[in-house]
Amino acid sequence: MEFDYIIVGGGSAGSVLANRLSARSANKVLLIEAGPDTPPGNVPADIQEMFPKAALNPAYKWMKLFAHTQALRRNTPQQMPPVLYDQGKVMGGGSSINFQAANRGAPADYDEWAELGATGWGWQDVLPYFKKLEDDDADGELHGKGGPIPVQRMPRGEWSGYSEATAKALEKAGLPYLPDQNGPFTDGYFAATQNNKSGRRVSAAVAYLSDEVRRRPNLRILAESSVKELLFEGRRVVGAVVQTKEGVETVRAKETILSTGAVHSPAMLMRHGIGPAAQLAALGISVRQDLPGVGENLRDHPGVGIMAYVTGNARVTMTERPLQISYRYSSQIEDCPPTDMYTAVFCRGGWHGVGRRLGMAVTWVNKSYSAGRVTLRTTNPQDEPKVELNFFDDQRDLTRLKNGMRFIAGLFDDESLQKTTRSPFGARLSQRSREANAVTFKNKLVMGAAGMLLDGPAPLRDALIRNKITEGPDLPTMLADDALLEDFVRSTAMGIKHLSCTCRMGSADDPKAVTLTDGRVKGIDGLRVIDASIMPNLPRCNTNLTTMMIGEKMSDQILAG
Ligand SMILES: Cc1cc2nc3c(=O)[nH]c(=O)nc-3n(C[C@H](O)[C@H](O)[C@H](O)COP(=O)(O)OP(=O)(O)OC[C@H]3O[C@@H](n4cnc5c(N)ncnc54)[C@H](O)[C@@H]3O)c2cc1C
Repeated sequence: MEFDYIIVGGGSAGSVLANRLSARSANKVLLIEAGPDTPPGNVPADIQEMFPKAALNPAYKWMKLFAHTQALRRNTPQQMPPVLYDQGKVMGGGSSINFQAANRGAPADYDEWAELGATGWGWQDVLPYFKKLEDDDADGELHGKGGPIPVQRMPRGEWSGYSEATAKALEKAGLPYLPDQNGPFTDGYFAATQNNKSGRRVSAAVAYLSDEVRRRPNLRILAESSVKELLFEGRRVVGAVVQTKEGVETVRAKETILSTGAVHSPAMLMRHGIGPAAQLAALGISVRQDLPGVGENLRDHPGVGIMAYVTGNARVTMTERPLQISYRYSSQIEDCPPTDMYTAVFCRGGWHGVGRRLGMAVTWVNKSYSAGRVTLRTTNPQDEPKVELNFFDDQRDLTRLKNGMRFIAGLFDDESLQKTTRSPFGARLSQRSREANAVTFKNKLVMGAAGMLLDGPAPLRDALIRNKITEGPDLPTMLADDALLEDFVRSTAMGIKHLSCTCRMGSADDPKAVTLTDGRVKGIDGLRVIDASIMPNLPRCNTNLTTMMIGEKMSDQILAG
């Protein structure tokens, strides 16, 4: 059977495309996802939870995918060792394992896309698609009703003592309360918008691949099936070779759409000779189309955190919403726009008894300037590419993150947080604490007991935090010594997992653009890329809603012919 569209990757963008393209009954659509399916009525419990335990489950992730967070340590001409970098390998992709933060960037971010050559992708062009995808509990002209993704806020009266104390400290620091995170994009703190309903995650797969959609005779879904190779006839892609559970299958289509995410989409292109010619030639790959932008411009938001013991009455229970509030603020660093920083405030720092007693504030550079790259190591589709994030390639990102640490640490001096928290510390977990994040029965017992000890006398709690939970200098020592602070930021900075921009869209005459504004790969027929990789620049937000917006808008463009 020949399909009209093969969609490779059932993640945030792929799930949207599968739904919208198969809504036209004349279109025969095939969706191929490498990871397990999450069909209605059979969504695993850890995926449904509001605390993202799913991100700790190896069954839903690419476990050989590592990333170098930065090129150089201070004064050391070496690359830091790579770290396992979570990317979803499950129906719904990132949206099935993420923190369910559901927000949009600043209007200026999308206007910047248009200025960079993505004509038709400015704020006024994309806003209708943000509205189309959502069923928002807020009213007003910026919000949509009746879309597949619920966007919800926790009413202020229900916030935990820790969230409320943080809010009070922020007010004293000069940040106002904003009634709507997805309203006007200004500095302030707010109830965090999330895509869950009745305490359950609504992933792109749950929202867009419902029973009704799955019953469509023109939609076939292949899970646990990996595309190994694209089939070409001349310069046209005519299908793919798929490793299914049953064996190898060849499928053909008029168009193939790569929605495999910001690491695997450029890697797939490069393995097929579409990318920077010299790099490909060095690996012995014959060049089909020289596109220097493939794999370049890799973006993420670098972030660091502070944790603190939260007193009993200010905590949340295991089933309560762990992410209740967040805030935006301005670094006021030269050459950076206002509202360039972001902090998510988690009432729970882990899934176990210790994590339940620890609050965590993670602050990140929301308008980052450093850019990295994805390159192939080998031509073998089993081998993950090399991922270099290059955090702090741009000094502004390092300066802002250091200042960000100072800012969030300063909040703990406020009496509201003094009353509700104790012993704040930089979130550099010891090896033992990191291992205890694995969801096992043994860790549950051990960390449950350790959690009870944390509730004991203050000297015991401090000793446990200093000697067992964390490592490195304590917070006051670090804040008093710029070199120690820089070392902390460099060694603990993590990506917020907003990988993007490696196949960026732009105009036909832009040598660094990989895709045109309808997702078509430049110089190749029958092939589009539609996922987070085509963003021209990383907006000031968590990227799931923006990626689904891209899926919605591209579907409309494809259906319009
Ligand atoms: C741990 C984590 C936390 C995050 N937290 C948030 C958050 O709270 N809020 C937010 O807005 N964003 C968050 N993000 C980011 C957001 O989820 C992603 O930006 C978004 O999911 C990217 O969508 P995508 O369609 O580009 O790729 P993905 O959703 O990653 O989808 C790509 C899919 O393609 C599949 N695939 C890859 N190669 C093949 C192949 N060869 N054959 C078949 N299938 C293949 C993958 O298995 C995957 O399912 C988070 C991401 C992660 C990983």
